[in-house]
Amino acid sequence: MVVHTGRHFLQIPGPSNVPDRVLRAMDMPTIDHRGPEFAEMAFGILENCKAIFRTKGPVIIYPASGTGAWEAAIVNTLSPGDKVLMTETGQFSTLWKNLAGRLQVDVEVIPGDWRHGASATEIEARLVADKQHAIKAVMVVHNETSTGVTSHIPEVRKAIDRAKHPALFMVDTISSLGSIVYEHDAWGVDVTVAGSQKGLMLPPGLSFNAVSDKALAATKTSKMPRAYWGWSEIIEANKAGSWPYTPATNLLYGLKEAIAMLQEEGLDNVFARHLRHAAATRAAVRAWGLEVFCADPSEYSAVTTAVLVPEGHDADHFRKVTLEHFDMSLGTGLAKLKGKVFRIGHLGHFNDLMLMGTLAGVEMGLDLAGIPHKAGGLLAAMDVLKGKDVVPMQRSAVA
Ligand SMILES: *Cc1c(COP(=O)(O)O)cnc(C)c1O
Repeated sequence: MVVHTGRHFLQIPGPSNVPDRVLRAMDMPTIDHRGPEFAEMAFGILENCKAIFRTKGPVIIYPASGTGAWEAAIVNTLSPGDKVLMTETGQFSTLWKNLAGRLQVDVEVIPGDWRHGASATEIEARLVADKQHAIKAVMVVHNETSTGVTSHIPEVRKAIDRAKHPALFMVDTISSLGSIVYEHDAWGVDVTVAGSQKGLMLPPGLSFNAVSDKALAATKTSKMPRAYWGWSEIIEANKAGSWPYTPATNLLYGLKEAIAMLQEEGLDNVFARHLRHAAATRAAVRAWGLEVFCADPSEYSAVTTAVLVPEGHDADHFRKVTLEHFDMSLGTGLAKLKGKVFRIGHLGHFNDLMLMGTLAGVEMGLDLAGIPHKAGGLLAAMDVLKGKDVVPMQRSAVA
C-alpha cells in the first residue's frame, strides 16, 4: 500500500474542498431541531441564503443531494404529461432530462454537441412555434460540470420574453452558485436548483430551491404527487424556524459558516477569483498544446476546465497515474466523454498556490502517463496569476 503524506488534492469539480472553518463549525453537538436555539439559527440561515441566490423570495433547503432538488423543482410545479423544453448541454442536462421523463414529464430536447451552452436563439424559435403554450417550463443547466461550459442565463430569459411565452424558467446552479455570478430575481428565474458540495464549500447532503411567486402559484395547479418535497409544508414550518422532518442539523451549522465566509470575501471577489483561476488554468492547457473542451470563449466555465487528451490516449489512465503518484483526484470524462477528457476543478475553497500545486500535478502526470504535450504550462499559469490584467467578467455578469 502506498502511504501518502500531506493533504489529498481534491480537484474534481465537486465535491470541492471543505474549509477547516466549515469542518470546525460542523463538529458540534447536534441540538434539538424543535428547540429555540435551532429556530434562531434557522431564521438566520434562511434569511442569509437569499443573498447568495440574490432573491427576496423563499429559499427551500432539503437534506438531499442536488438530484433531490431537481425532482423538487418538477413535482412542485408540473403535472404528469406536461411538456417542458430542455437543451442538451452535457451529462447533467441529460440526467435532469431522464429524471423528468421518469416523473412522466414530456421532455422536448434541443440537441447539442456538449461543447456549447444553451442556445437562446433555438429556445426562442421553439417557444415562438409553441402557439398553444403547451410548453410549461424551460429548464437549463447554468454551469455544465461535465463539459466546463457556462450558459448565458440572462439571454435565455430574454428569449423567453421575446417569445412572450408564459413557461416557467428553471435553472440548475448546482455547480455555479457561490462561484459564478448568478441573479435569481434580476434574471427572472422561477426555480433555481442548487447543491451544497460545490461552490458552497460544504460536504454533500444539502440542496436548495429558490422560488419565484410564479413558481409558488404553479403549486396550486400542479398535479404531481409529492410529499417529502412539498414546498408549501416546508415554507409553513420554516415560519416557526423548523422543518416538517428532521433537518440536517450539522450541515446547517456548516452552511451558516460557509455563507459567512462568502460574505466576508464579498461575492464579487469570489466570482473574480474563480475567473482568474480559470484563466490561469486555460493558459496552462494551451501552453501544454492541449485543447480546452469548451468551444466558445464567452462560455468558458470559471469552475471547471475540461481538457481533451490527444486521439489514441486515455484520460482515465492519466488520472489514475496522477492519483497514484501525487494523491490528486481529477474529474473523469462522463458518459460519451469517458477517456476523452479530464476535468480540473478550480472552485470553492481555493487559492493561487493550490492551483499551482494542481497544475504541477497535471503537468507531471502528463509526463508520466506519456500524454504528448509541451512544457511550460506552469510558467504560463504563473504569468496569469502574477499579472495585473483584469480578467474580463463573463457576459452574463453585465447582461
Ligand atoms: C453535481 C451536479 C449535479 C448532481 O448533483 P448531486 O448532488 O450529485 O445529486 C447536477 N447538476 C450539476 C450541474 C452538477 O454539477
